[in-house]
Amino acid sequence: MSRSDYDVVIGLEIHAELNTNTKIFCGCPNKFGVDPNTNCCPVCVGMPGALPVPNKRAVELTIKAGLAVGSTINDMAVFERKNYFYPDLSKAYQISQLVKPICLGGGITLDSGKFIRLNRIHLEEDAGKLIHSFDETEIDYNRGGVPLIESVTEPDISSADEALEFLTKLRNRFVFSDVAKCRMEQGGMRCDVNLSVKRKDSNTLGTRTEMKNLNSFKAVARAIEYEANRQMDALDNGEVILQETRKWDDERGISFSLRTKTDSQDYRYFPDPDLLSIRIDRELVNKLQAELPLSQEARREKYEQTYGLPGADAEVLSNSKVVSDFFDDCVKLLPEYKEVANWVMTEILKLDVSEEVPVTPANLVSIIKMMLDKKITRQNAKELLAKVLETGEDAEVLAKKMDMLSSISDTDIETLIDKLIAENEKAVADYSKTPDKVTQFFIGQVMRATRGKADGSKVKAIIESKLG
Ligand code: ADP
Ligand code: MG
Ligand code: ZN
Repeated sequence: MSRSDYDVVIGLEIHAELNTNTKIFCGCPNKFGVDPNTNCCPVCVGMPGALPVPNKRAVELTIKAGLAVGSTINDMAVFERKNYFYPDLSKAYQISQLVKPICLGGGITLDSGKFIRLNRIHLEEDAGKLIHSFDETEIDYNRGGVPLIESVTEPDISSADEALEFLTKLRNRFVFSDVAKCRMEQGGMRCDVNLSVKRKDSNTLGTRTEMKNLNSFKAVARAIEYEANRQMDALDNGEVILQETRKWDDERGISFSLRTKTDSQDYRYFPDPDLLSIRIDRELVNKLQAELPLSQEARREKYEQTYGLPGADAEVLSNSKVVSDFFDDCVKLLPEYKEVANWVMTEILKLDVSEEVPVTPANLVSIIKMMLDKKITRQNAKELLAKVLETGEDAEVLAKKMDMLSSISDTDIETLIDKLIAENEKAVADYSKTPDKVTQFFIGQVMRATRGKADGSKVKAIIESKLG
């Protein structure tokens, strides 16, 4: 049969590490990139007798995640033990949520108008990390107990493109609502792909396979293409698809079977006797809803509709949360939307803003203000920004230090030009032949004498009126 006789059916399970200061059930810091096994305690490695205490912030961020994608927030949620053995899980069970997750339903609309339903978002703890080298495996338990939300979609996704669009939009919802940083390169967001194929004329879903822990969007897309083709080939050859967990090997561009899953594995879930069920009152939900930062889409619309910026500017400025927050802070201080937008898009976006903008909104705004007030020229404003970036000092203090602040009045400039004209007879005589060159010469002289403080266009106008 041809490829067009098949439908591809995909459901995603997306894990995202929450933006909390501490882990989910203990006081260990939630941070990435410290020495292995230095960030653990009896609770997060599961020593006998150690008691977990739920992190309230983690529960709140899970509620916010749900609100950001239109989920219903349950009045009560229950932590359950998911029992299995794997070396990265020292307790031999993971605390998760099964029957009563915090969020139910919700979803995201793709650009095509298609709605991808979410089944649930639940809160759980992350496991440690196995580090494989060619002849041994080491374990780092630092990540164990990091709060994690798992978002599970219904099998509504039909292609790699739809999967990528969904993931991008979901990530943006979480990032823009301050729920999670979703840094895939640090393992802060990981995705499992469940995929089956079925004949278009069939109403029942095919048997699915699951590929776990894909850690880049590109890997997700490649794994989907590969697996869809593998399953269609198998069906074409009259083979049956086994329900199995497969491992995607990004280097080789193939997936292979890890284990077959005869029906669903028995994790012997049961409510964790060390933890009370979580009661979520409506007041808290309403408060979190009211505090929810604007989504990326809402920001883009605000920039266009309320600030009157061109669509292209609105798109660029709302592209990243870091830049969008920075821009919002700047225009709060100085509501010159287009001028500030131009500075952010040209001068700020050429810097590394992946983590944060390396200048404060107050400093950038003070530079722009000095320029708009004609205290410094546009050229000097750019030099000043470079110096602020280099030293981190206050822009106004630096402007004074660098002697940029213009104390030259228009009459001072005129007097200076009169003097220069008197001193440069030859240049004056050449004006009728090469006016541009002579004007440039005088502008240069004025700038040198004023150390760049004069306004170039004004100087040009005065010279032309005197010589022309
Ligand atoms: P499990 O409990 O085994 O993880 P779930 O019912 O929770 O199974 O489903 C896990 C994911 O698999 C969900 O994202 C769901 O949409 C997806 N899924 C379920 N059945 C299929 C199928 N036949 N084809 C593709 N995806 C599926
Ligand atoms: Mg699952
Ligand atoms: Zn701990």
